[in-house]
Amino acid sequence: MKADTSYDFIIIGAGAAGCSAAIYGARAGLKTLVMDTNAGGQILQIDIIENYPAIYPDMTGASFSKLIKTQAESFGAKFISAKVSGIDKIKNQFIVKAKTESEKTFTATAVLVATGAEHNHLNIPGEKELAGKGVSYCAVCDGAFFAGKNIVVIGGGNSAVSEAIFLTQIASHVTVLLRKDKFRAAASLVERLSSKSNVTIRYETVAKKINGKNKVESIEISHAEKTELLECDAVFILAGMTPSTDLVAMLPHDEQGAVITNERMETIMPGLFVAGDVRSKPFRQIVTAASDGAIAALAAAEYIDAQAGVAT
Ligand code: NDP
Repeated sequence: MKADTSYDFIIIGAGAAGCSAAIYGARAGLKTLVMDTNAGGQILQIDIIENYPAIYPDMTGASFSKLIKTQAESFGAKFISAKVSGIDKIKNQFIVKAKTESEKTFTATAVLVATGAEHNHLNIPGEKELAGKGVSYCAVCDGAFFAGKNIVVIGGGNSAVSEAIFLTQIASHVTVLLRKDKFRAAASLVERLSSKSNVTIRYETVAKKINGKNKVESIEISHAEKTELLECDAVFILAGMTPSTDLVAMLPHDEQGAVITNERMETIMPGLFVAGDVRSKPFRQIVTAASDGAIAALAAAEYIDAQAGVAT
């Protein structure tokens, strides 16, 4: 029987990739531990999940997150709340340092990093000062505070457009600002947004400054070298994500900072796997994160099997 801190497979991150890996790892008979800060990750920010097979139309991000964790636990995976501060490898053993109720060290034969990605900031005046006072990075979390108000959304990717659509149901008016002359989001989403009667889309428009004393009052924008003040009650910044790679900074990255793996989610360090939005790949969806996690766990199970009998 392995000690409470000794595992076959440690997974860092309890999003779609991490939980899916936990289901596959536990079902493969691996003693599996999932460590997460309980921040909830990106799934919690989704209202209704419309594009994951067989769960439409009733599944919220919060329910999905809870169910996938319960499913992994039912197969024996253990979840703990812990902030991981480092991963080392000594001979064939990984050492994972984490802060739980105290500093603790865990060991594992294989480790999966599924730490996801974080919201990009614009780094403009007023953004930091008014965060939580009208500046938000999540429509599902904060949209309800601005019922009947004027909202500005910044960004033209899938997140910005889906969240802008969500906000049109709450706000009196939604203005979407794009720095380029076209959307990056899927055409079907853009079509749905454009069909709303309370939306204005402004192309080639850059946010310069967010104004307000204790809450957002206006935003300074610039278009064709002209500056304009737009009155608004909230600014939702949905300008993409940066992969959370702090724990794996030593691994090769692509130009966006995402970790490079092969198709088996293996990194250049044997036994260390990376899955989900932190990984370099063309499409970031819940279904692709779940797929990454499953592949990583199956590859980890093979790796652990091959390690059995190898001296540590
Ligand atoms: P994306 O990287 O796809 O889009 C980011 C958007 O923000 C782009 O329009 C970009 O503009 C804009 N942007 C970036 N920096 C700035 C800035 N400083 N000022 C103004 N605008 C800026 O990120 P998303 O979060 O939208 O999506 C991340 C991944 O998740 C994608 O792969 C996406 O497909 C996926 N996703 C899928 C969903 C779905 O299918 N339902 C829902 C949500 C996300 P520009 O185009 O000019 O670079």
